[in-house]
Amino acid sequence: MSMSVPTVHANIVSRAKLPTRWGEFDIVAFSFQPGEPEHVALVHGLSAGTAAGPEPVPLRVHSECLTGDAFGSLRCDCRDQLEMALAELARTPRGVLLYLRQEGRGIGLANKVRAYALQEQGLDTVEANLHLGFDDDLRDYGVAAAMLQALGIEHVSLMTNNPRKVWGLRQHGIDVAGRQPLKAIATALNRRYLDTKAAKSGHLL
Ligand SMILES: [Zn+2]
Repeated sequence: MSMSVPTVHANIVSRAKLPTRWGEFDIVAFSFQPGEPEHVALVHGLSAGTAAGPEPVPLRVHSECLTGDAFGSLRCDCRDQLEMALAELARTPRGVLLYLRQEGRGIGLANKVRAYALQEQGLDTVEANLHLGFDDDLRDYGVAAAMLQALGIEHVSLMTNNPRKVWGLRQHGIDVAGRQPLKAIATALNRRYLDTKAAKSGHLL
């Protein structure tokens, strides 16, 4: 596959300060082609309209998880990861979180709830998604790459346990110069989910 031209185009529509409990961010809203959800970026320490330069920018790419991020579900560790990432990014001189509205690894909210129901019958996350006819992970990193390009960021240091995110961004022309692991907090309720991530989805936990 050839490098460097994102298949998706993103334009910055609006940008405003967003003070958070972890520190100061700007929230940046994008527009995409019709049908693409409203993804946003939280940007720390980078000013609008200025290219980020050759030094890698710490980056977290977070996929929306309504049940975890907003409701505090213990079926997954999404909210812990989101909060750890924002805390870490706020501590560094510069950092970006891309919040991608691709619920349930891209299968959508209703299907995620369906997958939960299947898990209650004994299937793991991957088996449940496959049972519903979905690939294990439908997330598309072309969107993330296009958002980075609109922000003037070419070089990143990615906070992730998921090598697929590194490959995904590289495929779309982003230079992933480094990878920082994120600690997962295992509980009795999410342990199987985390074990499945490690065993079947290639996460380095
Ligand atoms: Zn989640």
